[in-house]
Amino acid sequence: MEEKGTVSRNFIEQIIDKDLEEGKYETICTRFPPEPNGYLHIGHAKSILLNYGLAKKYGGKFNLRFDDTNPTKEKTEFVDSILADVKWLGADFEDRLYFASNYFDQMYEAAVKLIKKGKAFVCDLTADEIREYRGTLTEPGKESPYRNRSVEENLELFENMKNGMYEDGTKVLRAKIDMASPNINMRDPVIYRVAHMTHHNTGDKWCIYPMYDFAHPIEDAIEGVTHSICTLEFEDHRPLYDWVVREVGYEHPPKQIEFAKLYLTNVVTGKRYIKKLVEQGIVDGWDDPRLVTIAALKRRGFTPESIQMFVDLCGISKSQSSVDYAMLEYCIREDLKLKRPRMMAVLDPVKLIIDNYPADQIEYLDVEMNLENPELGMRKVPFGRELYIDREDFMENPPKKYFRLFPGNEVRLMGAYFVKCVSFEKDETGKVTEIHCTYDPETKCGSGFTGRKVKGTIHWVAAKTAVHAQVRLYENIIDEEKGVYNEDGSLNLNPNSLTVLDDCLLEPALADAKAYDSFQFVRQGYFCVDAKDSKEGALVFNRIVSLKSSFKLPKAEG
Ligand code: ATP
Ligand code: MG
Repeated sequence: MEEKGTVSRNFIEQIIDKDLEEGKYETICTRFPPEPNGYLHIGHAKSILLNYGLAKKYGGKFNLRFDDTNPTKEKTEFVDSILADVKWLGADFEDRLYFASNYFDQMYEAAVKLIKKGKAFVCDLTADEIREYRGTLTEPGKESPYRNRSVEENLELFENMKNGMYEDGTKVLRAKIDMASPNINMRDPVIYRVAHMTHHNTGDKWCIYPMYDFAHPIEDAIEGVTHSICTLEFEDHRPLYDWVVREVGYEHPPKQIEFAKLYLTNVVTGKRYIKKLVEQGIVDGWDDPRLVTIAALKRRGFTPESIQMFVDLCGISKSQSSVDYAMLEYCIREDLKLKRPRMMAVLDPVKLIIDNYPADQIEYLDVEMNLENPELGMRKVPFGRELYIDREDFMENPPKKYFRLFPGNEVRLMGAYFVKCVSFEKDETGKVTEIHCTYDPETKCGSGFTGRKVKGTIHWVAAKTAVHAQVRLYENIIDEEKGVYNEDGSLNLNPNSLTVLDDCLLEPALADAKAYDSFQFVRQGYFCVDAKDSKEGALVFNRIVSLKSSFKLPKAEG
């Protein structure tokens, strides 16, 4: 643990400090409780790293628990992806991987206990009637006519529910609390329902399933969770959480603490909406690099470190707010800046021929991997008479302040020589097909040449040795200007969210790049080998992020 006072504590840490000081708990235990009904997204990453981070900081434990009490939506595909994501983020749950469905017996026992205490009853009202009886924010509810059934009758009926004697929706078990409570969650909430459904873990063993508000506190209590951290929408459920823990009678009651969800601007984070994009085929799966699922961020080339940095910068709070996507981009740039080599890649190639360079000569130039980090060493980059440069680095009629190639102008080829444009050729459509230059052998990079200066430096690759690749550029999938939704409620998609460049040329050192390897392509941004579509000899790169940004780090608080 850090020294007190050196770092300001967030509000959850202050609660934990107090609980430990008062001896409420000896050590802490947190958990991440995903429902396996979709892939995890950046918001979940925040929750995972928060819970794991607290456990680590206080020398406590962190559990991963699948909240799989709802048999309709859950799929093993999601269980597998969630496991992979949590591990990738580095949140180590050791041997504490749990499934809420493994507690169904204990939950059933807890319900029986409540019935015996006169704190739960079987109710025959329909779902609509229950809603009607519940009252409103301004009016109290009405008691169910079944509320005063005897303990014996309730026990029998509940057992019959378990034994499959009733149709779905015909009977529920409800907690007997207070129909006049100002908190609607306390008005005799349903805690068990009949549902003849097959569960991915327990199969057909159960035809009654516990409701979230009943199951969750029991799951926490069984595992010895001390601080059950959830998002703000559960604040009004806390009295019920506490009621369940108290009435079922757990010796070491867990404590629920709420914090604000993470929202990103111009990004779809809701599971529901991501699902829509996937199911409608608008994206190529849950890991489409335009999404902010953890799988997508990983595929795009984000690192666990960059996500940790992002989560730390966001901080935690009790008030809802959105964070700019640019902050996430800032974090990955910062993380990769010194770690990754800076390679040359030409995304939109046009040929450049050095008329006075020997036709068959290939020369290997020594180029630094990363000018800001000498530890990454040097590499050999082949140079020859025929090169490719990016089309935008040449202009026939340049505007003022264009310092790249144009007829008569001299530029530096990065890590190589000065070249001067002597002529160029166009096809019938006016497209430039070849640029001719001469080079000055005296200007070789690192030769000690101190002659004339040039204002422009451009990147290039040698034609003979270039490696072919597809490069994908991304923009936000939601149009920033117009908002996330159209008037009819459909998503307002950005038609330019994906640009595929099929004829990119890279320096040969990139030929062996493997899935998830990432690099800076000088002047173009950071790129990562796509793990899904890249094959040996047919590389596909995703642009993680461009190099420039208007994003400024917010002032540190406190
Ligand atoms: P969604 O709202 O995207 O469908 P969910 O909350 O239903 O997600 P769960 O699997 O129930 O998904 O969430 C697991 C945990 O992650 C919960 O503790 C939840 O509070 C937390 N969580 C979900 N979304 C966010 C978010 N945007 N920011 C922080 N924590 C989140
Ligand atoms: Mg949920």
